[in-house]
Amino acid sequence: KQNSVVSPAASGLGLDSATVRSTMVKKLAESGVEDEMVLNAMLAVERHKFLDTALANQAYEDTSLPIGFGQTISKPNVVARMIELLRRGKNLKITGKLGRVLEIGTGCGYQAALLSHVSQEVYSIERIKGLYERARENIRPMRLGNLHLLFGDGMQGYASGAPYAGIIAAAGGDNIPAEWIEQLAEGGRLVAPMSVTKGSQSLVVIDKTSSGIQKTVLEQVNFVPLLTGVA
Ligand code: SAH
Repeated sequence: KQNSVVSPAASGLGLDSATVRSTMVKKLAESGVEDEMVLNAMLAVERHKFLDTALANQAYEDTSLPIGFGQTISKPNVVARMIELLRRGKNLKITGKLGRVLEIGTGCGYQAALLSHVSQEVYSIERIKGLYERARENIRPMRLGNLHLLFGDGMQGYASGAPYAGIIAAAGGDNIPAEWIEQLAEGGRLVAPMSVTKGSQSLVVIDKTSSGIQKTVLEQVNFVPLLTGVA
């Protein structure tokens, strides 16, 4: 059982973290997240372990938070929504695990850890060395053997792991790189933020089917920019 009691002194949390996490998950379910596997992952992964101790007491509020290097961890609601969308790809049973998944933008590693609970294999790539290292430290004690963290520019995707059942991006550009779509398996789904009009970003879903690419533009979101090269 991962629902162990966390020492308030060590975590900066004034409450048993499993209790606050289950309250968060209840709210996620009320706000429309239905996928049991996603809800269970949100219950299992300790979000406060991915944050600075000074921010740990806000870990289970539905808010985005700074993770250093000018980057942010997304709100639990957005993370759950995106993973649920990813798992609703064509030919996927909502009860089973996803196959191989690629995440662009590891950040602190929180979403990567969640993905490792709902997929068979996860590759997650980060372009900022310091964040890649931080994510590795965060993830190490969690022993997620199916999660592979990579340092590099995710703009080209990660061809060695392709084809992917799912591709998910935590940073948004002006379009979806062609490599990502190429590396998607037939029947696979991509979920990413993208600028649709100047200054406004939306969640985009791309399904790769035998008859071609189907693109759906969903709600407005607010992600950090997708950048080229490493830092
Ligand atoms: N999923 C992350 C969110 C991190 S924010 C989490 O749970 O913490 C988005 C991340 O995308 C940032 O860390 C940023 O450095 C990274 N990023 C932006 N452009 C990228 C690129 N081309 N390749 C890899 N990572 C990128």
